[in-house]
Amino acid sequence: MLLVGEPSLGEPEKAALSRVIDSNWITMGENVRAFEREFSAEHGVPDAVAVNSCTAGLHLVLAALGIGRGHEVLVPSLSFVATANCVLYVGGTPVFVDIVGANAPVISVADAARKCTSRTKAVILMHYAGYLADREAWRGFAEEHGVLLIEDTAHAAGVPGAGTLGDAAVFSFYGNKNMTTAEGGMIFARDPDLLRRIRQMRGHGMTSGARERLDARTPTYDVTMLGWNYRMDEFRAAVGRVQLQSLSQWNAIRADLARSYRDALAEFCPDVLVPFGNRRGVSAHHFLPVVLPEGADRDAIMARMGNAGVQTTVHYPPIHLLSFYQDRFPSLGLRKTEEFARRELSLPLHPRLGYADVEQVARALADALVPRAAEVSS
Ligand SMILES: *Cc1c(COP(=O)(O)O)cnc(C)c1O
Repeated sequence: MLLVGEPSLGEPEKAALSRVIDSNWITMGENVRAFEREFSAEHGVPDAVAVNSCTAGLHLVLAALGIGRGHEVLVPSLSFVATANCVLYVGGTPVFVDIVGANAPVISVADAARKCTSRTKAVILMHYAGYLADREAWRGFAEEHGVLLIEDTAHAAGVPGAGTLGDAAVFSFYGNKNMTTAEGGMIFARDPDLLRRIRQMRGHGMTSGARERLDARTPTYDVTMLGWNYRMDEFRAAVGRVQLQSLSQWNAIRADLARSYRDALAEFCPDVLVPFGNRRGVSAHHFLPVVLPEGADRDAIMARMGNAGVQTTVHYPPIHLLSFYQDRFPSLGLRKTEEFARRELSLPLHPRLGYADVEQVARALADALVPRAAEVSS
């Protein structure tokens, strides 16, 4: 089975894990701090805070920015549910924004402007499939409306400029992302004071961590703000440091494969749209989205491709249509998001694939698009 995504792990990760065991220091120590420095350097920012997931990181960012009850946060509905859940964690209200369209399935500046109110405090941008949102447009928007810019950079690790568009950004190292620590995340913040607050909130709001108390021989600590336990451990950080060394190479392979996909799909499936056709270079190519022709039976196509040994998924069921959110926002409609989500299909894309696999997937899709006689008559 060709999987939509899979991690690349091997001997260097095993060796790194062994070294952590041998060191006998297993949570937040040298590896976590080194991972923060190396990951931020890779993206050209001064520092970062590692956490145990992107979701936890988004929660910390909103809390540290003082977003809470009575505040609205603009979010895409075409995203993973965590992008909206984090707003509810702090008592705020997510306001769902429609996408630009099938060729640019990212939140629309125009719709965001329509949904801005005096209560709007921030907008969360999500770099769908790894394509960075428009920096100039969103900076202009933030300035004009006086709102904070937060990036959900879960898809965009390793893209130059990712995590530097706005006030804060959170990456994910979940198992299916471009680099992984199994579970984990990383926070950037433009304001060093904000990053310091986030660092303290990550560890219960305590003024020092266990390692610092040992090193400084100061047994006591104070708690000066509400915090959580969102720490990363040494095992994950050690794996992350190894993975980071391959990230740019893996992203280059992904870019090559994405280019091959565009050629193969143009040849075998000319009726299928590949979004972002005008922006091929600037992406982490986290997955390969396509938009099926109007009226295509996506469930049947996914089943046929599965039979041909090709896994496919959907990015994403719109958040506002998930039961929990539909109960809270029953009358909300987002025409373009809903239309896109009905027709979108994500194809396998990861560094372990080759060009022959890409051609196999494109041929399988071409086959699956043509209903077979037996199925038509049944
Ligand atoms: C994976 C993902 C998340 C959540 O990341 P975790 O590290 O699993 O919490 C959030 N947003 C988007 C867009 C994602 O793809």
